[in-house]
Amino acid sequence: MKSRLIEIDGSVGEGGGQILRTSLSLSLLTGQPVRVTSIRAGRRKPGILRQHLTAIRAALEISGGVADGAELGSRELVFRPEKIVPGDYRFAVGTAGSATLVLQTILPALMLASGPSQLVLEGGTHNPLAPPFDFLERTFLPQLARFGPQVTARLDRPGFYPAGGGRIDISITPVTRLQPVELLERGADGERALIVHLAALPNHLAQRAFERLCARLNWPDSCCQRLVHSSERGPGLAVVAQVSSEQITETFSGFGERGLKTEALADELAEQVRRYLASTAPVGEYLADQLLLPLALAGRGAFRATGLSLHARTNLEVIAKFLPVRWSVEPQADGSTVVALG
Ligand code: ATP
Repeated sequence: MKSRLIEIDGSVGEGGGQILRTSLSLSLLTGQPVRVTSIRAGRRKPGILRQHLTAIRAALEISGGVADGAELGSRELVFRPEKIVPGDYRFAVGTAGSATLVLQTILPALMLASGPSQLVLEGGTHNPLAPPFDFLERTFLPQLARFGPQVTARLDRPGFYPAGGGRIDISITPVTRLQPVELLERGADGERALIVHLAALPNHLAQRAFERLCARLNWPDSCCQRLVHSSERGPGLAVVAQVSSEQITETFSGFGERGLKTEALADELAEQVRRYLASTAPVGEYLADQLLLPLALAGRGAFRATGLSLHARTNLEVIAKFLPVRWSVEPQADGSTVVALG
């Protein structure tokens, strides 16, 4: 019997690219074909962009599937996966579009595949509005490991906007099923770190970012690490703040852009860190929406987040179109939110 076509309206909630990516991930995992309409209707430039097209092509390649509407600018896609084949793959966005969002699309299927995979992903590695490499390596993958899959990531070279040209190597050791995870408390405080990635820009920018952040957060100089990359990769400035606790490392980031003063970037980043530290919830805003899929696949478990964005709420809805989940979303007295299943 052929599985039924799942219909997804890409304009619901946030109306962004996440609806498309989550639909592809779950179509790959469940084998159910999907039609996504009004793709990215909530965005200023709607339709499929290069980064989404690369994600669709990656999904086609690992599954031997077929698609209609897989073109730049397209607002409707029908995707029919066949069988997931783990192995060695290389996917290149071709612009500074985020390579980590391509990974986000195909990782769920490959982490539950019948064998290991090695991926080379080329594109942006430090983009605004996408998980930077540091978040992937320090925050997301260690939490994913609690569900079972062992996934390692190595930054071969960074890709900043607009130059792109970054490269990440991923190695995936899959499992047959995910185990439930409970992540409700942070546990004891751990390391604090500030990391600046710099390419083809003067060193004093890193120094100014460190000084401002250390002053704003009251963190010692000893937590600062400067990573200077080859100037061909630039210009690029990414500033990352890491807050580790016993149970979790959260990672916050800010990106340099023309006309943005380094001090203003540092102030905005310090504010993100301060908001997280003002809460006791382990899971920050971005990790919250990225943990929903593993939680749904495990079928049981819970996490407590600093809050639940529209992005995450949209993701809850899309997941429920594919999987028989009954989400429990409980706001807590202290402003945090517990998301649970089972
Ligand atoms: P588009 O419609 O342009 O494709 P989108 O709706 O897919 O955009 P966002 O809503 O900005 O894009 O988020 C994309 C993904 O990137 C989400 O999984 C989000 O959690 C993640 N993300 C965005 N910013 C960060 C960040 N600073 N750190 C970690 N993850 C991030």
